[in-house]
Amino acid sequence: MTAAALTAAVPAARAATPAQPAPPSPASAAGAGTLSSTPTTPVSPGRALTLLQAGNARYAALRQAHPHLDAARRKEVATAQHPFAVVLGCLDSRVPPELVFDQGLGDLMTVRTAGQALDDAVLGSIQYAVQVKHIKLVVVLGHERCGAAEAAVEYVRTGIPAEGPLAEIVEQMAPAAREARHLPGDWVENTVRANVARVQEELASDSTFDGALVVGARFDLDTGHVTFEPSSHHRRA
Ligand SMILES: [Zn+2]
Repeated sequence: MTAAALTAAVPAARAATPAQPAPPSPASAAGAGTLSSTPTTPVSPGRALTLLQAGNARYAALRQAHPHLDAARRKEVATAQHPFAVVLGCLDSRVPPELVFDQGLGDLMTVRTAGQALDDAVLGSIQYAVQVKHIKLVVVLGHERCGAAEAAVEYVRTGIPAEGPLAEIVEQMAPAAREARHLPGDWVENTVRANVARVQEELASDSTFDGALVVGARFDLDTGHVTFEPSSHHRRA
């Protein structure tokens, strides 16, 4: 669906809650590997990654806990939020971060653009999550059969620039498609991976992400599993 209409996903990281001094109580595990109720100190990158992995394992196994969606949670987050990770994902309807990581209200900040494309608004939203909300884990979430990657491959294969709403996205993903062109295996799949790595590298080089971990990940539409890439980066942590 390379010509799908692009309704821009509105970055969700605009909540204007002022930064709050971190209370002393540490984050602790609750029940099925979900975060206990707030308040918490900033969750460490490793802990945040573990929470996401546990949530995705539940999702893939169709054993979701559907945490943090009840009336008490709504009330709790109505006045303050302490999300533990920010996810930059694709706008694809099959890859909603809160669902594939089995998280609830107030758990994740998410930004979604076709092919995880970066621009100033996206970068600023992630910077807000890291700097103001003290989030220590940034996930770049690509996925199998990404329409934006298919369009980028088509562009590189034919030399014919994409037209319409995907044009800018395709232009941004073209370097990944070129990089992946001669790799063994599926070109689109390799483009997805190369693009995640490029976006990850770009975010990891942001000097304002002091102490935050930036990881790349790939969502498998067939199995529901998220695979985190080993080439993660710590910024001066
Ligand atoms: Zn996609």
